[in-house]
Amino acid sequence: MSVKRIFCIGKNYAEHVQELAHLGHAPDGDCVVFMKPASCIVPEGELIPLPRNRGSIHHEAELVVQLTGGGRDIPIDEALDCVAGLTLGLDLTLRELQTELKNKGKPWELAKAFDGAAPLGDFKPYLDQDLQAIAFTCHVNGSLRQHGHTKDMLFSVARQIHILSQTWALLPGDVIYTGTPQGVGPLQPGDHVVLESPAIGRFEWRCT
Ligand code: ZN
Repeated sequence: MSVKRIFCIGKNYAEHVQELAHLGHAPDGDCVVFMKPASCIVPEGELIPLPRNRGSIHHEAELVVQLTGGGRDIPIDEALDCVAGLTLGLDLTLRELQTELKNKGKPWELAKAFDGAAPLGDFKPYLDQDLQAIAFTCHVNGSLRQHGHTKDMLFSVARQIHILSQTWALLPGDVIYTGTPQGVGPLQPGDHVVLESPAIGRFEWRCT
């Protein structure tokens, strides 16, 4: 199934919210919803084109789910019926630019929706795994940068689907980047990024 729209959830792991607070992003107790165009996707094996001279580009390793659709106003207890597949992806972020935009009260697209900002693994079928029991890691050049577990999400995947469906009629192919755990950090040209989860698989990219 091709990707229809990319929804992203921000501030969904408490320890990541804390690390952003050190960068001047005040926690407010709510999750953030934003979007990226599907043209941001970098499939596994393709080079990630890092923007030049725009400040640091942070990796945010995330569980990503794809939906069968579902429409509007999906109850939380029916939300997981809409999940078609799961994978891992990177929500790449121009961090200083994001801080500047936040501080000015401006939208985030320039920092979050640039070309190449959504490296995305191949989707594996959703087989009723517990989506709140998935561990995953992000290694850069062999060093562990992020080690997350979806039990630490502030907003479960089901709740995210419910929230999104209050604003959008969810369509087949829509995907959700479900937020990143702590450990975000910069990427450089030439870096080798590996996302891995025992429950999902292993995906890798090279940055240019
Ligand atoms: Zn993110």
